[in-house]
Amino acid sequence: MTYVANNDRYKEMTYNRCGSSGIQLPAISLGLWNNFSDNDSIENQKEMLFKAFDLGITHFDLANNYGPPPGSAEINFGRILKEDMAAYRDEMIISTKAGFKMWDGPYGDWGSRKYLIASLDQSLKRMGLDYVDIFYHHRPDPNTPLEETMAALDQIVRQGKALYVGISNYDAEQTKQAVKILQDQKTPFIIHQAAYSMLDRKIENGLTDVLEDNGVGCIAFVPLAQGLLTNKYLNGIPDDSRAAKDYIPFLNEKDISSTVLEKVNSLNDLAAERGQSLAQMALVWVLQQKSVVSALIGASRASQIEENVKALSNMDFSDEEMKRINEILS
Ligand code: NDP
Repeated sequence: MTYVANNDRYKEMTYNRCGSSGIQLPAISLGLWNNFSDNDSIENQKEMLFKAFDLGITHFDLANNYGPPPGSAEINFGRILKEDMAAYRDEMIISTKAGFKMWDGPYGDWGSRKYLIASLDQSLKRMGLDYVDIFYHHRPDPNTPLEETMAALDQIVRQGKALYVGISNYDAEQTKQAVKILQDQKTPFIIHQAAYSMLDRKIENGLTDVLEDNGVGCIAFVPLAQGLLTNKYLNGIPDDSRAAKDYIPFLNEKDISSTVLEKVNSLNDLAAERGQSLAQMALVWVLQQKSVVSALIGASRASQIEENVKALSNMDFSDEEMKRINEILS
């Protein structure tokens, strides 16, 4: 059956301006790092994308290497877009990235002009797109001159293959240097994709200041700490969770330590007092941070997306709640 988007899809979502750009991003965006691979049912992938779009999530984040195998998330997304959602392409912000290893040899990794341009060409083919809305350099490359990587981002925009560019995993100092080059080139650099959650607050030590000062938006990835900041692991590791899947090496039993669980339990109690789930509280907490425009979630089922978007109906924290959160996290 053909997918027809919910007519009310723009009523509940909040859209935030991305830095000083013309683009507004949904307060919650969906990333396809996990659960869009060839190991995952295409029906479930469709259900999640349709649910997200129906709830006003207009931004879908990919990377060349998302899978497994690398590239499969882009292929699966491209297939669903073509078969079911093509009519809505202009209502979407689709991003991809290059910066981690994608193919063998010296040209399939890091930050050379050769790698970035070839990789984006491959991504566009996999997704069946003429252009992406945002193209990111996925991580800083200590061995390629920053000027070369930034010039490649600029070239990609001038070629019409991306409308805007971003960087990801750059620290405050690296970001400052990138901003300078990109501003000189007049490249439409609008966004930084950085890890940020209650359990990972590194960006508060300088990066958010650099972003604010330069009119660059921040999209916070892994805002739920891969599921740790939900009620999921409070009573062990469920069989259908990310931590239980051995083809996903990024969250393991050892990450779910008793110290972390103690904090998560206390946060869960506080969320309940606010009438929210822990996932919902963790998301609105991320959105309180200056320069954070969007919380970039992952999901393994449509119901999680539904629960997470409902977070936006209770965004305010009292001073007392903030104090308690800081005490729990300290
Ligand atoms: P999250 O921290 O949002 O974790 C998502 C996981 O949390 C889901 O897969 C699910 O786990 C669980 N979850 C989500 N909602 C709920 C809920 N309501 N209740 C219970 N469990 C829930 O983010 P991800 O780690 O998935 O990363 C999000 C995106 O960030 C990626 O897809 C990618 O786009 C981007 N990213 C970027 C990086 C970069 O270097 N630029 C690095 C990493 C991610 P389960 O599967 O167990 O159900």
